[in-house]
Amino acid sequence: MVRINENFLKLKAGYLFPEIARRVNAFADQNPSAEIIKLGIGDVTEPLPAAIVAAMHSAVDELASRDTFHGYGPEQGYSFLRDAIAEHDYKGRGVNVSADEIFVSDGSKCDTGNILDILGTGNRIAITDPVYPVYVDTNVMAGNTGEADADGRYGDLVYLPVTEENGFVPDLPTEPVDVIYLCYPNNPTGTVASRETLQQWVDYAKQHNSLILFDAAYEAFVSDDNVPRSIYEIEGAREVAIEFRSFSKNVGFTGVRCAFTVVPKDLKVKISSGDEVALHQLWNRRQSTKFNGASYVVQKGAAAAYSSEGREQMKQLIDFYMTNARLLREGLEAVGIRVFGGVNAPYVWLKTPNDLSSWEFFDLLLEKGHLVGTPGSGFGASGEGYFRLSAFNSRKNVEAAIERFKTAIG
Ligand SMILES: *Cc1c(COP(=O)(O)O)cnc(C)c1O
Repeated sequence: MVRINENFLKLKAGYLFPEIARRVNAFADQNPSAEIIKLGIGDVTEPLPAAIVAAMHSAVDELASRDTFHGYGPEQGYSFLRDAIAEHDYKGRGVNVSADEIFVSDGSKCDTGNILDILGTGNRIAITDPVYPVYVDTNVMAGNTGEADADGRYGDLVYLPVTEENGFVPDLPTEPVDVIYLCYPNNPTGTVASRETLQQWVDYAKQHNSLILFDAAYEAFVSDDNVPRSIYEIEGAREVAIEFRSFSKNVGFTGVRCAFTVVPKDLKVKISSGDEVALHQLWNRRQSTKFNGASYVVQKGAAAAYSSEGREQMKQLIDFYMTNARLLREGLEAVGIRVFGGVNAPYVWLKTPNDLSSWEFFDLLLEKGHLVGTPGSGFGASGEGYFRLSAFNSRKNVEAAIERFKTAIG
């Protein structure tokens, strides 16, 4: 008799986005003339930078000829891309990461989930609350949690609240934890962690032999030089942290698919025999066995993001979204809303006015402004009373949305 992974049965049904869709559809049915603007979804809207499009076109042409055809590539990624990443994202910024510590993939969502393949069972897992749901659900699937309670909190997970009270930076856990997920710049709160904060976490991890899984998908949106863009800017991080990065948000690859994971060779874990094992070796084995590499065309496109043209076009794209974020912030502040984030990250996180719940505010914005955002409570119980707006949108929609804040909230 076949057995299934019954941990899947513990998963709460994907509630957030279906519920948003349900409410939006119900509203649209009753108000067919309303033009609804969606500021909810974390997907990019603008086309690919021209330098990347050109590189992908010419990569396709290479595949069209026997002499320049490429079949399977290295599972870890082509060296033209790994070298460019090491040079521009790390060495050029004075950070010690070498090309052979970089594993190119088809997305950070899969990497942050797949990483659990190389970890054992029984780890105590810490996540921030609110959080990117992938970290939670993949741990449920892996059997690292108990059942969910009425608020959707899973047993055995250590939730670290991030709220206005602690400046959206989690306090160190009061009980020892083995694995810590950190995402900065943060989705959903749009806030950042200072060098000092990250140093505290790295020191904690060293002291407790824990592992930090650092999601830096939004590092390109950091404009403040004092804000770290990589965990490896922090002393000691090479011994305790894995970093995840993605081309999804900086150059609009959400549909193209390319990302990478850094596993430093200094990252070693003591095993039951007392010996130390390098996680680099395990991840390399995992990827070579279960993954056959990201597509050649896509990796050529990603590498073009590091050409001088590509870097200039990426900067323009990020400036465009960050201007949206600034306009959203200012528009909300003008109607008396307290806003967070949106300075070094493409998300604006707001405190709902008049102590409305996240869903009450959702309904108010929809009914009075025909605007759709994401209720903070959907990212975790501590997100209750907050609300996320995304800067990934056209300027026209952002400007129209700001006008509508006035009628809806003002
Ligand atoms: C968008 C996003 C990613 C990127 O995921 P991909 O699979 O590379 O598209 C990773 N982490 C967070 C928190 C994100 O919001």
